[in-house]
Amino acid sequence: MVSSASPSPGAWTPTSWRTRPVAQSVSYPSASHLSNTLHRLSTLPGLVTPHSIHSLSTHLTSVAAGRAFLLQAGDCAELFADCREDKIAAKLRLILMMSLVIVWGARMPVVRVGRIAGQYGKPRSKDKEMVEMESGEKKEVLTFRGDNVNGFSPSDRTPDPERLLQAYFHSSATLNHIHGLLSSGFADLHAPLDFSFDHVRDEALKRDYRQIVESITDSLDFMGTIGADPSSAGGSSSSLSSVDYYTSHEGLILEYEESLTRLHTSSSSQSSSSSRAPTAGYYNLSAHMLWLGDRTRDLNGAHVEYFRGIKNPIGIKVGPSMQPEELVRLLEIVDPDVTPGRVTLIGRFGASKIESHLPPLIRAVQSSRHASSIIWISDPMHGNTISPPSHPDIKTRLFTSIVSELSASFRIHASLGSRLSGAHLELTGEVDESGQSVTECMGGSMELGEEMLRERYLTHCDPRLNAEQGLDVAFLVSRELRE
Ligand code: PEP
Ligand code: MN
Repeated sequence: MVSSASPSPGAWTPTSWRTRPVAQSVSYPSASHLSNTLHRLSTLPGLVTPHSIHSLSTHLTSVAAGRAFLLQAGDCAELFADCREDKIAAKLRLILMMSLVIVWGARMPVVRVGRIAGQYGKPRSKDKEMVEMESGEKKEVLTFRGDNVNGFSPSDRTPDPERLLQAYFHSSATLNHIHGLLSSGFADLHAPLDFSFDHVRDEALKRDYRQIVESITDSLDFMGTIGADPSSAGGSSSSLSSVDYYTSHEGLILEYEESLTRLHTSSSSQSSSSSRAPTAGYYNLSAHMLWLGDRTRDLNGAHVEYFRGIKNPIGIKVGPSMQPEELVRLLEIVDPDVTPGRVTLIGRFGASKIESHLPPLIRAVQSSRHASSIIWISDPMHGNTISPPSHPDIKTRLFTSIVSELSASFRIHASLGSRLSGAHLELTGEVDESGQSVTECMGGSMELGEEMLRERYLTHCDPRLNAEQGLDVAFLVSRELRE
């Protein structure tokens, strides 16, 4: 049972963040419009349940113990206009294909978490920017902060609380479609050829993927022949025909997060003693997992205050400015009970900085109480964003830098007796009307060159790996895990 939160002064409450400085705060023109919208949000049902959040926490306990790999991936920023059947299916298909490659190659279960169904808000380094309006006039306007705050069009940059409600309903429609796809056999391993990517142009990549699919089909045939295939006993709910898939977003707009934070009381669950039942406490029911961005992780700030009180598993972006002792203090604040799998540290240093910055942080965690409870994963995207000289106005990422940071993460962790247990990626399987993948990051097996960047540069935020490049990364991860 879920009920609305009632604050108790002095302790953590869903509103206690309001007493702290709020990084990346949004100024809404009308306070009453905002509070009416938040009230409406607080009465709407949660998008996910404490039980499904608890199920992810249980999987993350296995990741923390080195028994599973965490793949967290999706768009930099979702747009409301992208809430369409084809786009959602393409995103889901790519993460499923990648996890198939990793599971098969590394013989290790993969926990899949999408940056999806709520990844709308964006932190920005500047509040304002100069743009050219449709009239040709140059004007300074507020920066685009994500579809849940303002519009991408320069004439629509005033923050509008109504967009928070829109975010809720678009998240809900996205989740509904994901559930529909998964429950209709979208991830059925008996028909993995449905996963085939006609537009993957790289022949070697196609061959590698096809080989995996053939070996799985062979194994399933064999298991069916000897009567060991659980689904041959009937029913479509076998673990081979459905997969777990969880949602996440950056917990940035705290007003929204607060309105979806609800108290779960354990007395209301059927068997609170069972490890399958979520413990009592406050759950953010807007997503299974939330992460704290690199710009909002100030120890005394509002975001850290909010994050420490929710039961959801949380991610923390860890960039080059994080100091070792600061990281340990942060872990003490957000995870005082040292719960295995509660915190995922998402390293995002950049290929040129990882060698010097990651080792002191690993050592600091190793000599703290949190050594065996936290999960380290690598985000090889955010420290590797560049503007190529020929296109100074757009952002891209070199596949070689991405691979270099990811491989270095595996190597550095292993050399220090730590473990890299996952990857956090910005990618999309979406294609244009002619079936062609996006051209936002350079390189990879398809050798996407600088001259191709403008062809299908569709992101409104950071550049994403396309399907071919995502599969390249999956093969790399499966090789690293095997070694
Ligand atoms: C992001 O994940 O899109 C992001 C803004 O990352 P970071 O906080 O690491 O810069
Ligand atoms: Mn991004």
